[in-house]
Amino acid sequence: MKAHIAVLPGDGIGPEVTAEAVRCLNRIAERHGHQFTLTEQPFGGAAIDLTGEPLPPQTLETCLKADAVLLGAIGGPKWSAPEAKVRPEQGLLGLRRALGVYANLRPVKVHPALLGASTLKPEILQDVDLVFVRELTGGIYFGEKRREADSATDVCTYTVGEVERIVRVAARLAQQRRGKLVSIDKSNVLETSRLWRQVTSRVMREEFPAVSLEHMLVDSAAMHLIRRPREFDVLVTENMFGDILTDEASMLAGSLGLLPSASLGDGRRGLYEPIHGSAPDIAGRGIANPYGTLLSVALLLRHSLGLIGESEALDQAVSAAIEAGARTADITAHDPPATTRQAGEAVLSRL
Ligand code: NAD
Repeated sequence: MKAHIAVLPGDGIGPEVTAEAVRCLNRIAERHGHQFTLTEQPFGGAAIDLTGEPLPPQTLETCLKADAVLLGAIGGPKWSAPEAKVRPEQGLLGLRRALGVYANLRPVKVHPALLGASTLKPEILQDVDLVFVRELTGGIYFGEKRREADSATDVCTYTVGEVERIVRVAARLAQQRRGKLVSIDKSNVLETSRLWRQVTSRVMREEFPAVSLEHMLVDSAAMHLIRRPREFDVLVTENMFGDILTDEASMLAGSLGLLPSASLGDGRRGLYEPIHGSAPDIAGRGIANPYGTLLSVALLLRHSLGLIGESEALDQAVSAAIEAGARTADITAHDPPATTRQAGEAVLSRL
């Protein structure tokens, strides 16, 4: 098949991990007879340095024309001063909005060989296999923001339509998995959460009667996630709760560096990125874990290009590389750990 993929390496470790992803995509194209056109564009802090804007028009245009967008990570201390007028994060929110990707899927699976890499006890982690579905283009991150001399305000809004569409994505996913959906809110305090709970109950009752639904308060969910993570299948929640809980959930797998994400809208085009940030503390040293990005490529192959076999092959290659001991410093105590390139090479050689 022919596909056009926009590649946005971004900042910090972004370019290091996307370099491995590009090598894997090229190898997959070569092995399976596909024609992938990869177009790199500046984004985030790197784009601010080049053009003054985090999402330059040409970058946006390339993304809008592409079948899928692969992103490394953005941000860093250079662009984070409180008084800064433009920020890399504005580019990311703008890109998500422009692509209409309102559903962020974050699978968390614990690799058996890495049971010891987490700070949690191995017996709690065995067989954990869950997916977070986080609402991505609404809520407090997108609401009106105001600053006065001695106060600040962030407005949180959700509409019925926004809740319905994200719940449908999560419910369809639960149908294909173990048929269990947990919806997370703070309905004892927030009006937006009461709307969320009401709409979720109705959509599930009317459209997905075979999927079991449990409502959970966000504080309680934060606790159960590390107390009995195995019992979760699909979890759906709003933007900010999802942002926080998915970082917590990433620790089940052992490292932020291992986890992929897919951001999807109504069509096939999606935005794929590892869940970690630009990791300024380790950037430029070639030691970042590339597996979260490579697993994001597997999600891209599956959701945007419909290449299920290729996606599974990449998933399995990452798994086999980890099993064979190709582990970066964040997931091994062995000295010396694998470099980013060595980990990428271990996957390439298994494709
Ligand atoms: P971070 O995810 O960049 O790093 C947190 C910790 O995890 C660091 O110690 C880092 O070294 C480690 N880590 C992250 N990814 C790793 C990898 N692949 N391999 C090994 N170790 C890894 O979060 P942060 O430090 O809070 O944020 C740094 C910058 O990234 C900030 O500017 C933030 O705004 C930005 N950020 C961007 C995104 C994104 O691009 N989507 C997401 C989160 C944070």
